[in-house]
Amino acid sequence: MSHVFPRHTKANLPTVSHGEGVYLYDKNGKQYFDGSGGAAVSCLGHGDRDVIDAIKAQLDTAAYAHTSFLTSQPAEELADKLIGLAPPNIDRVYFVSGGSEAVESALKLARQYFWEKGETKRKYFIARRQSYHGNTLAALATGGNEWRRAPFSPLMIETSHIAPCFDYRERKDDETLSEYALRAANELETEILRLGAENVIAFVAEPVVGATLGAVPPVEGYFKRIREICDQYGILLILDEVMCGMGRTGTMFASEQEGIGPDIVTIAKGLGAGYQPIGAMLCTAEIYSTIENGSGFFQHGHTYIGHPTACAASLTVVNKLVDHQLVERCAQMGEKLNTALRSTFSQHPHVGNIRGRGLFRGLEIVEDRESKRPFSPERAVHKKIKNAAMDAGLFCYPMGGTVDGVHGDHILLAPPFILDDSHIDEITDKLSIAIERGLS
Ligand code: PMP
Repeated sequence: MSHVFPRHTKANLPTVSHGEGVYLYDKNGKQYFDGSGGAAVSCLGHGDRDVIDAIKAQLDTAAYAHTSFLTSQPAEELADKLIGLAPPNIDRVYFVSGGSEAVESALKLARQYFWEKGETKRKYFIARRQSYHGNTLAALATGGNEWRRAPFSPLMIETSHIAPCFDYRERKDDETLSEYALRAANELETEILRLGAENVIAFVAEPVVGATLGAVPPVEGYFKRIREICDQYGILLILDEVMCGMGRTGTMFASEQEGIGPDIVTIAKGLGAGYQPIGAMLCTAEIYSTIENGSGFFQHGHTYIGHPTACAASLTVVNKLVDHQLVERCAQMGEKLNTALRSTFSQHPHVGNIRGRGLFRGLEIVEDRESKRPFSPERAVHKKIKNAAMDAGLFCYPMGGTVDGVHGDHILLAPPFILDDSHIDEITDKLSIAIERGLS
């Protein structure tokens, strides 16, 4: 019997043996193509010697130093590097151990920023239905998945949720894309006015929605209007790029493609590429200096912030992404994957929507393509497809959930950026088998 607390209590998972490139192997010798990069983590694939060597070298010098006493060269270099790559107004980096910690830090930083300014009444966050921002309590509160929040609902901080920007399901038949973008974004204004702008701290959103909807990009113009509204009413814009950042959508930060910059942005997953647990929260000089000139420091912290070994791994990951033009490669291979998915599945009676950016692609599985009618939630087809894909030797990330009363079965693909053309065929071949078997 295993004493490990598993993710799902009924899971009976194979044990990993090793990883190499785009593949993982279990102890029975079975090979899996890592089509989801774990959960959009493994951008460099498995067994990358440069990252492994950097970790070993750091372990040989100083595995760990507490940030109350010492900073470290990898943390300093990584921060400089990230600031050089981040949206122009972003100036400071706070390193943590993962995505939830990054979001939790962002929410607290935003609140402290206003507190320093004497605007202590502000207590509301506005986020979107069907986004996921992490599992710690405040991050969970901003997320919109009802089923994740249900057991903890009395513990949630004050957050309200507007509609996601979800063209496939939410745009009306007689609406143009730009009319829809405006209508969806204007829900933020309505909600700010309802709560009173002076009571609101920030709007929180993923530029491309990942773990709940399966790679849903925003409609053009949506985030421009969101930025305008945040500025008009003096609230902060927090972008959660934990999943869609670090090149995954074909640009280092997904927000670049929207032509806007956030006040605070969170990253994780691809930042450590799975070699070490690391996340980061980045903010503007204005936010940082308000706190520096106020009480002097951010009232937050964890034992492992700025962990030198995690930062050393991440520095090598980021250097590789830049020096080997892997983000550009992600954009190019992403287009190829998109073309292959469309040619394989666009006439499939149960694939309702194919979407995404870069190597961040989603398929929505439906019972009827014409009417977009979903399968009943009880069938849990997303889970069946995931299991059938594993049998066929492919990892794809399943998601099921309800947006505005409509159930959705989504399959997320987020393979390593190092894949080549033959792997694209491998994904579509194995996914075809998995969808057939999962629905049979
Ligand atoms: N934000 C987003 C957008 C995520 O996708 C996730 C993880 N799926 C998180 C936050 C939480 O990250 P972690 O699991 O590393 O705590």
